[in-house]
Amino acid sequence: TERLLQKSEKLALLGQMAAGIAHEIRNPLTSIKGFIQLFKANSEQDEYFDIVLSELERINAIVGEFLVLAKPSAAVFKEQNIEQLLHDVITLINTQSIINNVQIYTEIAEELPMISGEKNQLKQVFLNLLKNSIESMPLGGDIFVTVGVKEEGKISIRITDEGVGIPEERILTLGEPFYTTKEKGTGLGLMTCFKIVESHRGQIKFTSAVHQGTTVEVTLPTITQPLLKK
Ligand code: ADP
Ligand code: MG
Repeated sequence: TERLLQKSEKLALLGQMAAGIAHEIRNPLTSIKGFIQLFKANSEQDEYFDIVLSELERINAIVGEFLVLAKPSAAVFKEQNIEQLLHDVITLINTQSIINNVQIYTEIAEELPMISGEKNQLKQVFLNLLKNSIESMPLGGDIFVTVGVKEEGKISIRITDEGVGIPEERILTLGEPFYTTKEKGTGLGLMTCFKIVESHRGQIKFTSAVHQGTTVEVTLPTITQPLLKK
C-alpha cells in the first residue's frame, strides 16, 4: 500500500537518517584518528599528519552537529532553570572566550519563570550562539547576555556582540545548512539552533549592523503557558 508522507514526517525521517549516519561515521572516524596520531608520532613529516588530523577534525565537527539533532525520541522535555543553564554554558565556553580576549557579561532578571525543554539541546543552542559571537570578534571584545520576561508567558535571552556583523541580505537566510564565512566553519551551527528552538516552540531573531555587532534574541515559552499543539 502506498502512503503519502507529510512534509513534517519527511523532515523528521530525514533528521533521523542524518543522526543515524552521523553516528555510524563517528566510530570509524575515531579509529582513523587514533592511527593517524600513532603514525604521526613515528614520522619525521608530522606536518602532513597535522593536515590530515585537522581535516578529520572538520568531518568530526560536521558529524557532531548532525548528532545533536539526534533521535526525537531521546528528547525528554523537563522543567529547566534558564539561569542555571546559561551559567553552565558560559562556564563551558570560558576557556575559549579567555583565549580570544572576550569578556562575557550577564544581566539576568530575578525570579525568572521556568521553561520546559531538553537540557542538552538548549545548552547546544546557547553554546553555538556564544561561539558565533566570540568568533565574530577576532580581536576580542565584549558579549552581553541579557535574560528577562518578554511578555506574559515568554522568556527572552539576548546575546549581543561587538563583532563583524551580518549583512542585511544574509539575515533572512541564516540557518541554511553549510552557509559559512569561516575557513574552519561547518555552516551547521545555526541550522541546529533553529531546529532546536523550533521544537521548543520558540523563536530566534537576528538584528545586526556590519562592523558594529549582532544581537540574537531567543524567545522561549515559559512553563506556565501550555505548550501549543501543532
Ligand atoms: P559556522 O559558525 O560554522 O560558520 P553557523 O551556522 O554557526 O556556522 O553560522 C553561519 C554564519 O552566520 C557564520 O559563518 C557567520 O557568517 C554568520 N554569523 C552567525 N552568527 C554571527 C555573529 N554573531 N556575528 C557575525 N556573523 C555571524
Ligand atoms: Mg557557528
